[in-house]
Parts: sequence; structure tokens; C-alpha cells
Amino acid sequence: MNIHEYQARELFAKFGVATQPGAVAFTPDEAEAVASKLGGKIVVKAQIHAGGRGKGTFKNGFKGGVHLCDTPAQARDLASQMLGQVLVTHQTGPEGKEVGKVFVGEAVDITKELYFAILLDRATSAPVVIASTEGGVDIESVAEHTPEKIIRVGVNPALGLMPFQSRKIAATLGLTGPLANQAVKLFANLYKLFIDCDCSMVEINPLVITAKGELLALDAKFNFDDNALYRQPAIVAMRDKSEEDPREVAASEYSLNYIGLDGNIACLVNGAGLAMATMDIIQYAGGKPANFLDVGGGASKDQVSAAFRIILGDANVKGILVNIFGGIMDCNIIANGIVEAARETSLSIPLVVRLEGNNVEAGKKTLAESGLALITGDDILDAAQKVVAAVAKAA
Ligand code: ADP
Ligand code: MG
Repeated sequence: MNIHEYQARELFAKFGVATQPGAVAFTPDEAEAVASKLGGKIVVKAQIHAGGRGKGTFKNGFKGGVHLCDTPAQARDLASQMLGQVLVTHQTGPEGKEVGKVFVGEAVDITKELYFAILLDRATSAPVVIASTEGGVDIESVAEHTPEKIIRVGVNPALGLMPFQSRKIAATLGLTGPLANQAVKLFANLYKLFIDCDCSMVEINPLVITAKGELLALDAKFNFDDNALYRQPAIVAMRDKSEEDPREVAASEYSLNYIGLDGNIACLVNGAGLAMATMDIIQYAGGKPANFLDVGGGASKDQVSAAFRIILGDANVKGILVNIFGGIMDCNIIANGIVEAARETSLSIPLVVRLEGNNVEAGKKTLAESGLALITGDDILDAAQKVVAAVAKAA
């Protein structure tokens, strides 16, 4: 799960991570009011679940999702240019994201932009700090062209981020004297936030040194471990479903593992490994998968029919491949779920089903007696070839 920058700032405040004052605004009026209260130079920032806003462009031609201005009236004007508009950045994809709120904050006089992040390193199964002196909007190109400018420091999860490690990172970032002290405190508080909130990533880009000699987090991008959300009600309350793929929101309501993709052959599979193999074999057969969907080992009939409805709610889907290997899963439950959902939605696109394993005979009987016009696959390759051919024929 992701949150917005303004919500991440609420967590900064709670954990004592230094940042500049500001507040979220949902209307130009609110933006003006926040700016008046702050006084001085102001920054207005589009709030979307994607980075690269500063260099982004709105679909109406307005350039940039991060702007500085001098007066509350200008802040109002900037907010009205951004609110309700679609912002495209290198992280949103060409479809962009609609801006529903802006963050209005104090502009600061920046002398240096740094990069600081904590994330979970899959290779070591432990947190790792990533930092660089080359912070700001071009961190991706720093990673690509000058990777030596990016430092990595592994953290022992039993010990946490140790003060000596923070001092070393601060020194590598060129921070000395009072700035080094601020850095050690900020890193420790951010690490506590990372652990306490079950984050999988906290990224501050830029972490800035100001002309007044302060170290401040000016941007924030957080990711949370979905498997830990059950114990993070305050984080779950920050979820903004309008930022998520509606297909994925529906799937999460039924505890289905669903990821929307941009092909046209939907797959419904039990088990993540089999789901990946199914996507591969669809490609191998010359097709493109519309989704990753794992109904899990113990799916109910309701979950299966919900999965089917989600698939059919996607206008890009031109054919469906059901690939079930019943180890724990009872093939007949899958068959009943398919029949129910196909009847409800008056299925009009090719459906190829490959069932194997536990209670497969009963499952095949349910499908055969349903009167549904489905195609059966003998094995996984046969099924993939059949669905690709059926979609090509229907086109
Ligand atoms: P994004 O990463 O989505 O482009 P940022 O919040 O990092 O958005 O903003 C982009 C750039 O805008 C920053 O690197 C910084 O140079 C500038 N900026 C952001 N916030 C402020 C601020 N409060 N004061 C001055 N400059 C800012
Ligand atoms: Mg940034």
C-alpha cells in the first residue's frame, strides 16, 4: 500500500522527522487559506501516488506538479491549475493520474539536495539504507550513470540502525558539525518510523540542507507491507482507493491476489507460481496476459465468481484461460464458481478451461452439464494455444 506525501508528513510529525510546515488543500480556497497562514514564499505540490511530479506535465499542457510562488493568491491560482487535472510523470505511465488535492507548504532556501531511503533488501532479508549526495529529481539517472555515488548500508534488524552507522552515512553525505547531529537524529527517527509502521520503503528525495543550516525532508514516498496491514489500522485509514486500479481494489475485497496488466487474455489460476507460469505460456503461445490472478489454495465459490466478475469487468479482456491444478483446491469448487459467474454475466468471450487434480472428474462433469460454450484444454500448453487461437478468431 502507498500513501500521499501529505500523509507521510503526518507520520514525519509523529516520529520527529524534521520537515517544513504545511497542509493539504482540496480546493483553491483552502490552498489560499493555508498559504496565508504560513506566510512567506510557498510551494504548491500535486498529490498523487507517483514521483517525478516536478518534471511532469498536465494533460491540459500546464507544466510541472511542483511550483514555488510568493503570495496566497498565486498559491490559489496554482492549485486551481492543478486540481481536477491529470498529471503525467515518468512514474504514472502515459494515462497519468488525476490530482484531487495539493500540499501547500513553506518554500525553503535550498543549498544542497541529498537522497536518503530505507528499504527492505530482499537479498539479505534485512533493511538497507540507500543514500546519495546527488539528491533531487534525477536520482534515477545517478543510479544509472554514476552508481558509485550511491551508498548502501545494511542494517542488522536485531540491532536496528546504529548511531555509528548514521554518523558514517552523514559523513559520507558531507554533513559535519550541527548538520551531522541533525542527520543522526533524523535517520534514527526515520528508522523507527520504518519499523513501527511496517514500511517496505521510505524515501526522502530530496533531503535538503537549507541556507539557515537545517536538514529537512522535503518530499516523501512510502510503501507499506500489505501483509502487515492487519496490525496497522492508522495506516489502512490513509488508503486512497481512488489512486489504485479499481480491478485491484475489488480483488482485495475478496482477498484475491490480482495485478492488472495490459494484455487481452485474462487468467484465473490457483497458486502464484502456476499463475506466473500461465502468464509465460500465454506469451509463448503468442498472446498477452490481461492480469495476474491467484485465487489461492483454498478459494471458495464466492471468491472464484468474484474473480470472474473482476476479469469480465475489464473491457480489454477478449478471452479467458482458467488453469487449475487442484492439490488442496477442489476442482469442483472452481467449476461451480465459473458456472455461476458465467451465467450471471452472460459470458460472450472464449473461455478455455484446464482442470487437473483433486476431484477433477466432478469438476469436468459440472462444466459439461452447465451447457456453457467452453473449450477444454488437455494440458497447460494446449490450453494456452487454444485461448490465443480463439481470441484471434473472434477478433
Ligand atoms: P517530485 O520528486 O515528485 O518531483 P519533489 O517534492 O521532490 O517532487 O519536488 C521536486 C523539486 O522541487 C525538489 O527536488 C526541490 O528542488 C523543489 N522543492 C520541493 N519542495 C520545495 C520547497 N518546499 N521549497 C523549495 N523547493 C522545493
Ligand atoms: Mg522528489
